[in-house]
Amino acid sequence: MKPRIKKISVIGSTGSIGVNTLRIVEKFPDRLKVVGLAAGRNLPLLARQVEKFRPARVAVGDPLLIPALKSRLKSKKLDILSGPPGLVSLARDQEADEIVLAVSGSTGLHPALAALQAGKQLALANKEALVMGGELLMKAACGLGNSLIPIDSEHSALFQLLEGKNSEEIVRLFLTASGGPFLTRDPRSLSRVTPEEALSHPVWKMGEKISVDSATLMNKGLEVIEARYLFQIEPGRIKVLIHPQGRVHALLELKDGAVLAHLGIPDMRIPIAYALSYPDRWPLRLPALSLPELKGLTFLEARPQRFPALRLAYSALDAAGTMPAVLSLANEIAVEAFLSRRISFPRIVELVAWVMDAWKENPAASLEAIAAAEIWTRRKTEAVIQRWR
Ligand code: MG
Repeated sequence: MKPRIKKISVIGSTGSIGVNTLRIVEKFPDRLKVVGLAAGRNLPLLARQVEKFRPARVAVGDPLLIPALKSRLKSKKLDILSGPPGLVSLARDQEADEIVLAVSGSTGLHPALAALQAGKQLALANKEALVMGGELLMKAACGLGNSLIPIDSEHSALFQLLEGKNSEEIVRLFLTASGGPFLTRDPRSLSRVTPEEALSHPVWKMGEKISVDSATLMNKGLEVIEARYLFQIEPGRIKVLIHPQGRVHALLELKDGAVLAHLGIPDMRIPIAYALSYPDRWPLRLPALSLPELKGLTFLEARPQRFPALRLAYSALDAAGTMPAVLSLANEIAVEAFLSRRISFPRIVELVAWVMDAWKENPAASLEAIAAAEIWTRRKTEAVIQRWR
């Protein structure tokens, strides 16, 4: 029987996850068809993607960019949306069966929620959406697998490990972290770290924000929060292991003492393809994992006391409400400030800690409360950056 073609929209198509998603589409043209693409400001690449995949709808980051995109396209009839409302309407688009949400940062929350509310399958790579609005998203989703599938590699691994298990069989989840480029570096030298150094990740090739987050370990902090909401498990049962080889993506400890691990080469096409093929698996024909070549795998417990970004993530979960959103937004602004050389590397996590500490109200996380927390966090974080300069 010929498989039905799944129609997908890729929101964040010019970033690393978006580009890899389109590589999967090219590999499986009889199973996937692109009906929507959205990108921020990389118009040359977006225009090439539009010519190649011929979506019915496209969105760009800003309405001012529409004429420039049009001038690069042969077809003038294309429906071009823009800005945050453009992402939301693409996420709800009737044409699409599945939305791959691969934008980075807080812009992901509204399209993620819109896709779930419109009954779409959501393949979610944007972890900030879950960190900021985890409860809202999980309420809007009709269960993992049915409408929400994680793309983040550790969470994709856990999603696979958890298949067929019931929650009372689970003792703990382990997320692995490579430790980033500065794991073995003298902490006193970190104030001299440049954006270029922070962007060179030892295992994965990724976008700028997530690369800096990996260097501060905030990425793993965000992933702990992401796991808490996705798998509805108490934070105390989510552990982080530093695993520099990056081949074991996650582990699951069960009550009979069995520990299941998910291994694979560090290639995002594996979790992306699974989010598109689920519950089937497609032959990706990637290089095989060779454990003998690695000559060993090592694991080190990442205690939150030693890694301040992890400590902040657990304390945000402890505070609950809008605190995870404040953490995520303050971090986003701090990372931008570091990349534009306004603050030093160690200041990123210090800034997040400072802003979280100043957030006293902490109401429950409704969309309105998150929006208010966002305005407050932006203002507060900027004010602290100004004061520190
Ligand atoms: Mg990850």
